[in-house]
Amino acid sequence: MEGPGAEFVSSSGGLPVLKDLLPQEVKELFDSFGLKTYRSAQVLKWIYGRKALSFEEMTDVSKEDRAFLAQRCLIGELELLRRQVASDGTEKWLLGLEDGLTVETVIIWEEDHLTQCVSAQVGCSMGCKFCRTASLPARRNLRTWEIVEQVVMARRLIQNTPVRNVVFMGMGEPLANYEAVLRAVRIMLDPRALDISKRRITISTCGLVPELRRLGQESLGISIAVSLNATTDEQRNFLMPINRKYPLSELLRACRELPLAPRNRITFEYVLLKGVNDSLEDAKRLAKLLRGIPCKVNLIPHNPYPGSPFERPSEEKIVAFQRVLAESGYTAPIRWSHGEDILAACGQLAGDI
Ligand code: SAH
Repeated sequence: MEGPGAEFVSSSGGLPVLKDLLPQEVKELFDSFGLKTYRSAQVLKWIYGRKALSFEEMTDVSKEDRAFLAQRCLIGELELLRRQVASDGTEKWLLGLEDGLTVETVIIWEEDHLTQCVSAQVGCSMGCKFCRTASLPARRNLRTWEIVEQVVMARRLIQNTPVRNVVFMGMGEPLANYEAVLRAVRIMLDPRALDISKRRITISTCGLVPELRRLGQESLGISIAVSLNATTDEQRNFLMPINRKYPLSELLRACRELPLAPRNRITFEYVLLKGVNDSLEDAKRLAKLLRGIPCKVNLIPHNPYPGSPFERPSEEKIVAFQRVLAESGYTAPIRWSHGEDILAACGQLAGDI
């Protein structure tokens, strides 16, 4: 595309997608179109406030401008292919992308709000041995608007309870899709767009050290989670191939050096795998490794899936592991899974690849 708006092109079809753009960029785009200065604010309200999917419904925008915009840009829409509801109310949605691929997003009910687990990639190339997403082919990064629209869609379809927390714990490794994810986060944070508060957005990573350091430098104040899952390099090399590139010492050094907002803590996720990383020695080593890092530990009992090579430890074993951490002064809640009966729990997402 040439002419006004050319620098915003980001999708197939050659048109800029508004959910790819920061509110300021929507304004610049509309300025380049020669539209009235207040149009962008109106359109942003329609897109994020009322979750509009067409310019046609934007009734306070003139007919000419609606027709003009419909030819020059896209709003960004995903197709809801399947909506599953688990016995505990957790929902898993299968979303269709324009190239025929699919991703999943999970919605978890809290007391008066929702936590949404969003995907950052179709598939994943990190190869973690205990994760279902990793057992499927890695296809592609999601674009910013495909991430943003997951949240807009949830707010559109569930109207009386707002999505207030967003966790990048769905399919894929968010820091392997750094640019698109960070842009999506900025759109989520912006009061003119999704207006989610910074502490309520969490990026979870398997440990891409350079990107983790870079994320720290962005000073966004969002929450950061690191999937640790092992206490020795030998163990972690086996479970998470990324460890061969960025071993534990490097990862933990980056965590120690991460500039955290006051009172903010890193969350370490630790998937408990029977007979693999669930011993009391592991718990003691974990307590020692994390010493001095402002953090908490989320213990995630392994969630099985068809063909998974690991098992979940007994409840007794899990509680004993937790006790060692608690005695060392760590907050270490056990994250009993949500939505397991529809394969919506941590590490169970697969789209329909
Ligand atoms: N790639 C990112 C985002 C995914 S978050 C990351 O690794 O952090 C998904 C979380 O679920 C991770 O903490 C991962 O360690 C955990 N997980 C993966 N497979 C699991 C399984 N089968 N059971 C329980 N947790 C699992």
